[in-house]
Order: sequence, then C-alpha cells, then structure tokens
Amino acid sequence: MSDKTAYRGSIFYFKDTATMANLPVNKDQQSETDRQYVYIEDGVLIVEAGKVVEAGSYSSLKNKLTNVKTVDYKGKLITPGFIDTHQHATQSAIVAAYGDKLLEWLDNYVFPSESTYSDDATAKKELNFFLDQLVKNGTTTAVSYGPLFYSAADIFFAELQKRNMRFITGNIIMDENAPDTLKLTAQENYDNSKKLIAKWNNKSRLSYCISPRFALACSAKMLELCGALKKEHPDCYIQTHLDENVNEIAAVKKLYPKSKSYMDVYDSFGLVTDRTVFGHCIHTTDEELKLFQKSNAIISWCPLSNNFLGSGLFNFGRASKFTDKITLGTDWGAGNCLSMFAVMDDAYKVSMLNSVKLPSMVRWYMATFGAAKALHLGEKIGNFTPGKEADFVVIDADATPYLKYRHQKVTDIWELLFILMTLGSEENITATYIYGKPAYINANANVAETVNTY
Ligand SMILES: [Zn+2]
Repeated sequence: MSDKTAYRGSIFYFKDTATMANLPVNKDQQSETDRQYVYIEDGVLIVEAGKVVEAGSYSSLKNKLTNVKTVDYKGKLITPGFIDTHQHATQSAIVAAYGDKLLEWLDNYVFPSESTYSDDATAKKELNFFLDQLVKNGTTTAVSYGPLFYSAADIFFAELQKRNMRFITGNIIMDENAPDTLKLTAQENYDNSKKLIAKWNNKSRLSYCISPRFALACSAKMLELCGALKKEHPDCYIQTHLDENVNEIAAVKKLYPKSKSYMDVYDSFGLVTDRTVFGHCIHTTDEELKLFQKSNAIISWCPLSNNFLGSGLFNFGRASKFTDKITLGTDWGAGNCLSMFAVMDDAYKVSMLNSVKLPSMVRWYMATFGAAKALHLGEKIGNFTPGKEADFVVIDADATPYLKYRHQKVTDIWELLFILMTLGSEENITATYIYGKPAYINANANVAETVNTY
C-alpha cells in the first residue's frame, strides 16, 4: 500500500489568487475562468505525510488511486479547516454568564475563572476540554489567548504540540486593574514571555503571540515591555483588544489624554504591526482605520461576542474601504459558540443591520484562506494547493433533519455554503483532520477512521 490517503467527496477551497477584492460576490457575475474558488462535486483530496498531494475530480484522479487507501465521504463537503482569529482558551467555564457589559463582565466572571488556572491540574483538564470542543467544531488553527500563569501557558503549548496544531498563542499579560490572583508584575510577565518564546516559538507548528489583554489591564511600563519583546523577537505575533466598548474607550482616553486615539496608544509602544491581531475594532475612527491600512494590522471581527455583550455593530462596509485584513473570531468566552458557522451567521446579520449584504463566499474566505493570508500563513494552510499542510474538515449537511430537508432544495455551492453557515452546527462536522490525521470523528457519522490519540 502507498503512504498516501485519498478522501473522496465534494471539494471546496479558495484559489491562491483569491483576495478580498476579487472574490465573486454573486454567482451570476463570474465566469468559470475568473472565479476564485474550486468546487468539485465528485472530487478527491490526496494527502501524504501531512501535506496535500493534490485535489481534483474523481474521474481525473481515479487511475492514481490504485493501492491508495480511500476514505469515502461522498455527498459530504471536504474543505480547509476553519481559522478562528480571536478566542480565549481559558474561558470555557464562563460562557453564557448573564447580564453584564464588558468591564463588569471581566470583573464578575472572567477574572475569578481565569484565576483557577494557577492550578496545573485544572489548567490541563480545562485546556484539553477546550481543544476537544474546538476540533469538534472544525477549527484547525486559532489565534488564542492562553493562561496568565507560566506553568499553565507551558501546559497549553505542550498539549497543542501533542495535537500537532498550527496555533498562535501566548500567556495573557496583565499587571493592572486585575485581582491579585490574576496579575503579575510587568517584569514577571516579561520574563515568562521570554521563557515561553525560547521554548515554543516556531516549535512544531506553534507561533508565540505577545498578548497584552488590553490597554486598561496593562501599565505603560508593561506595554513598553511588550514593545521590547516584539523588537527582540520580530517574528512573534501580537494580539490585543481595540475599540470594543464605549466605556473602555473613554477610560483609555482618560489614561492617555495626549494620544490621538485608542489605537495610537498601542502604536506609541510599537504594538501596531502587520502581525498584530486586534479584536473587535467596532468603534474605530477614520484615523484608526487609516493606521490599519498603513500597517497591515489585522482586524478580528467577533460578532457573537459583540452581540452578547451589547458592544456594538462592526461596520464591514466601512472598514473594508480601508483594509482587506478583516478576519473572523469567536471571542469564545463572550462569544457563546466555538462554531465558525455561528460566527459567519452573525456576521451576516450584523451586516444586514448596517444594510450591507455580505455574500457567503466573502464570509467563508474570511474564516479560512483570507485569515491564513492575513496571518502570513497563506503559503502553509487555508487551501488545497499541493504542498499545503493538510488541515481539513468534512461537513455533512444531511447530519441534521432540517438541514437535510433544506439541502434537497439547494442547487449550487453558493446556496450550500449559505445554508451551512445559517443553519449548521457542530452536529454537521463529520470529521476534522490535523496535518493529515483524524483529530475528531463524529460518533454518529459511521466513518471507518480511527481518531488519533494523544
Ligand atoms: Zn476577547
């Protein structure tokens, strides 16, 4: 037998040439030659040693399948894994906590819960539970806030390495406006980050992310040290929160009265870069959006969270005039679902409230290849070009009764994507593969594959 494995089903992915600007926005306007995606109803994805060998139609590739193990996913969609660009791995215990807006919600729910990660056994159990839920939802890569404590963050990296996930994360950094149980001094945060960078950055498929929670949880000295970390390790990512809540913005303005804007505060510490992911960006000024344009910094739009906390409506139409580095995040914690279907669904609804129609292709792109490109990972993940890392998901619209019924009336990939993101859930994820190995198989799916054990 060959070392290759073939997966037969409907194949969908965006081409390498796809950009936010050239994506087709409706199915009538595009010709076969300039469409920026590949859809093959009866297709095959061939994988070897964790990488994509090729993807194409079954009829054109069937001669190459002699002695190749073939897994039958006929009638199901095989597509690159989802990329969630904003989530808190430490907040599973407080999802669906009632009644507060951002600043009160942090004090009342988030901080007490995240404090429990000082215990290593708790951290290991909670973080593994979180990762199990993530792959169950078809997400294979994320930009994620890890625990504050060195030991718990180290455990998180070790578990991610065992799972061989392509992941961008780091210890969340706070030295102010937090309870004593959940803050370290600026120097302690810096020292922990240095140790974690040395141990984990660019190891296996892991990247380290400098992760100041937000300007209100960090002293000026702390933000300065985050800027120093970035200078010392230019390939590290940065993540933080920006313009989420009006009270938050007012408090930042009070702290930094001379700054031109909230984003300018981060910029003054060297934290606005083309590897910085800013969560939310709801109440941005034109000046801030111009800074996105100039810096190529990345927006993570988190509509589930924004709606849950009543933070506001991200204006895609306005932001996209300045930048195409717009990606999607669950903001798990305040976001109440780890499914990127749910995020894409709320993105549609929020846009409708702003009178902007957001096509299926644009949202699916933002949740897959668009995010990979914005994160400088487009050469590695996000589509099925030969040589890419084989992170993919198998989706079955027929796994749930109403979607099965609705699926019968669907005639093309545009409608299929639209019903999946409007009506789909984790129940529709048949399998998730990480680097060519099954990381999750839905127990209801009757698939002859064995899940990797860690
Ligand atoms: Zn967040």
